[in-house]
Amino acid sequence: MALLQLSNEYKDPHNYPKGVAYMDGQYLDMSKAKLSILDYGFLHSDATYDVVHVWQGAFFRLDLYLERFFSGLEKIHMTMPYSKEEVAEILHNCVALSGHKNAYVEMICTRGNSPDFSRDPRDSINRFMAFAVPFGSVANQDQMKNGLHAIISSIVRIPPNSVDSKVKNYHWLDLVTGLYDAYEKGGETAILLDSEGNIAEGPGFNVFCVKGKIITTPEKGVLPGITRRTVFDLCDELHISCCATEVTPTDLRNADEVFITSTAGGIMPITKIDHNVIGSGTTGPIFQLLKSAYWEKHKNSDWCLPIHYPPAKI
Ligand code: PLP
Repeated sequence: MALLQLSNEYKDPHNYPKGVAYMDGQYLDMSKAKLSILDYGFLHSDATYDVVHVWQGAFFRLDLYLERFFSGLEKIHMTMPYSKEEVAEILHNCVALSGHKNAYVEMICTRGNSPDFSRDPRDSINRFMAFAVPFGSVANQDQMKNGLHAIISSIVRIPPNSVDSKVKNYHWLDLVTGLYDAYEKGGETAILLDSEGNIAEGPGFNVFCVKGKIITTPEKGVLPGITRRTVFDLCDELHISCCATEVTPTDLRNADEVFITSTAGGIMPITKIDHNVIGSGTTGPIFQLLKSAYWEKHKNSDWCLPIHYPPAKI
């Protein structure tokens, strides 16, 4: 048995994606960004976060993500010493220092901890951190082309009157259990229901149903996704009817098209649900139209904020 002694320096046996993090006033290599195991963000999932992406060197709709993050902070009684503008600058610097042109950029505020491990959340000092790593997607290249196979899971999404779904949170055990449920049933991803048996959302995405000329998406018990909001905005511009309402599993199974939306991947097709093909079984025309319009907007300076990268070292 190894000699029982305290280590002077922690040696991390794990590997991490390349990137840059911000913690406690310092920009760090991703491998150095560590959080105390006493932080209630970790112990109680007592945290809120947000994720914005950078595409071809520019943030996409950053103002909307900041607005959602700050509104979540207020709802769960967290404060931090940074304004929206200062958070925007920190996120910018993480990306610029990482050098990533396509990035997944996360901002987090945890409840933090208190020196005497108080159980009263008001005694904790809230903690802000952020990081930029390479862009990732819910759907891989093949799924993006041919569509994902989703399973409507028997796991119920945490109801919004327990945990407010408008506050982006790490209460993911229902979503992760749903994923395992889907894998066991031969699917690639999961769609969870709300407590009334209607469609809610999936692990990191909102769900859309296309029938005839009308697009619907669940209204209640879901994160108001920024990509979901972008679909509403694009539909307005394209004069397509799109509304948030009740969506049932039967609506989804009988849809012409189904697609999902996330900052991690944009607009992504679902072509099979519970082993049955949706519509023609291939990606549909509405999905194609919206997906093109979505990526086209990434070239529009009104929707994008460029990153100023430091000059490359010679
Ligand atoms: N729903 C949940 C539970 C999520 O975690 C996410 C994103 O991570 C979404 C929906 C999609 O939101 P957005 O389009 O803002 O990425």
